[in-house]
Amino acid sequence: MLITMIVLKNLIDGDWREGDSIFASTNPSNLDEIVAQCVSGSADQVMESIAAAKTAFAEWSHSSILLRHDILMRVASELREREVELGRLVSCEQGKTLREATAEVVRAAQIFEFFAGECLRIQGEKLASVRPGVEVDITREALGVIGLITPWNIPIAIPAWKIAPALAYGNCIVFKPAELVSATAWHLVDIICRAGVPQGVLNLVMGSGKVIGSAMARSPDIDGISFTGSTTTGRTIATNCAEHGTKLQMEMGGKNPLVVLADADMDLALDCAIDSAFFATGQRCTAASRLIVEDAIHDYFVQALIERMKAIKIGHALDPATDIGPVVSEGQLEQNLRYIDIGQGEGATLAFGGSRIEGTTRGYFMQPALFSSASNGMRICQEEIFGPVAAVTRVADYDEALQVANDTQFGLSAGICTRNLACAMHFRRNVAAGIVAVNLPTAGADFHVPFGGRKASSLGPREQGRSAIEFYTTTKTSYLRC
Ligand code: NAD
Repeated sequence: MLITMIVLKNLIDGDWREGDSIFASTNPSNLDEIVAQCVSGSADQVMESIAAAKTAFAEWSHSSILLRHDILMRVASELREREVELGRLVSCEQGKTLREATAEVVRAAQIFEFFAGECLRIQGEKLASVRPGVEVDITREALGVIGLITPWNIPIAIPAWKIAPALAYGNCIVFKPAELVSATAWHLVDIICRAGVPQGVLNLVMGSGKVIGSAMARSPDIDGISFTGSTTTGRTIATNCAEHGTKLQMEMGGKNPLVVLADADMDLALDCAIDSAFFATGQRCTAASRLIVEDAIHDYFVQALIERMKAIKIGHALDPATDIGPVVSEGQLEQNLRYIDIGQGEGATLAFGGSRIEGTTRGYFMQPALFSSASNGMRICQEEIFGPVAAVTRVADYDEALQVANDTQFGLSAGICTRNLACAMHFRRNVAAGIVAVNLPTAGADFHVPFGGRKASSLGPREQGRSAIEFYTTTKTSYLRC
């Protein structure tokens, strides 16, 4: 078990350093348990990290692809060897069930394996020139010093899907994780460091977003920022980056729809709705918080969903019987409960749940909530809540369902449950989202394919899979007279 009272330090230029102060992460399943103590860095430490990364870049960006491959593979194998131990840490620090947390650690390992392979597959293009006797070579080069800013909900896989491609393509990194899950981030960095990453290539600065993240976004010496988090924070970062023209990749909030048509396999549709809306405590950017249900089955669907919700076991994340762990923090729980009031105030019916509940330990446990009679203009259907709260909207037919699904500022993920091939194909082509799921939950993406959204959900090139190269490299066109 990793819970220890050793203070976890920042990694700057290859040294573990003290910070300005110390903060603790607490187990949301048991508020009497401190998971870790971490140092909080400073803007000066950000500057030092950037300088170290800049120095290291000259050698690392031209290092052997085999060296990078081998380092990433060593990271993957340690993650796999320690999947249960690290899964427990993720579960204790973030609150997702042990099953979900262990799967996330395995996913992080898969990502490192994938990008280890990508190190050996960096390609260019050779084209004929319009000028006789001239050849054109198009190659990719590492972008430079990359700032990585990550959220708390996917504490090891999101850092993995940014760090692995950054290293694979020869970049140096300054990494700032969300405070709530800093210990998980620290252990990942420790593993990468011991896998043989040279001094200065990977730097970790833990602490507050307003201090550390903001110093990164404002720095003229960072070549790119890859951010995952809320749309509000993303827009602040984008404003700060604009001053120096820093390249940006941002994955942000969602208000994802799941459409259920009358011809759907009802058991499958109910499974998809429960998984999409409530698993991982609804704290997934791809969670479906809007259930758009065709009139003919609406009443049946709502009632059947409530029956299933009654069977969900909420409790300590390490308890094997638990289906849904706690909400991550007091602030997030307050926000969820505030939206329960807002929804009722707007005239939606609270059909099930929506209150704080007691567990066997003192934690942030909440009964998942279902609103019915919601209209899509309501705040509960337009604003990201980021908790186990879903609202059902009744629609007359498929055409209205599609129109409601697209009536949002966000565009991350969208799903439809139907047996009608024509509707499934039409939805796939016309829903304004980066990810579409047919007869599947809206959450749950593969690790080797592009991930990202549209509209207020995303900015810049896609993450993951072979698309990652777009952000982490820059293209060079060379003309050669032979
Ligand atoms: P957040 O925006 O509050 O914080 C994200 C990160 O930004 C944290 O590390 C935080 O410290 C940092 N930060 C805060 N203020 C900053 C500033 N002024 N400058 C620079 N950095 C700053 O988000 P969160 O609460 O940690 O995570 C939940 C959000 O993340 C939700 O909106 C969710 O939808 C989103 N998310 C999106 C995806 C995706 O791929 N689209 C994936 C996971 C989570």
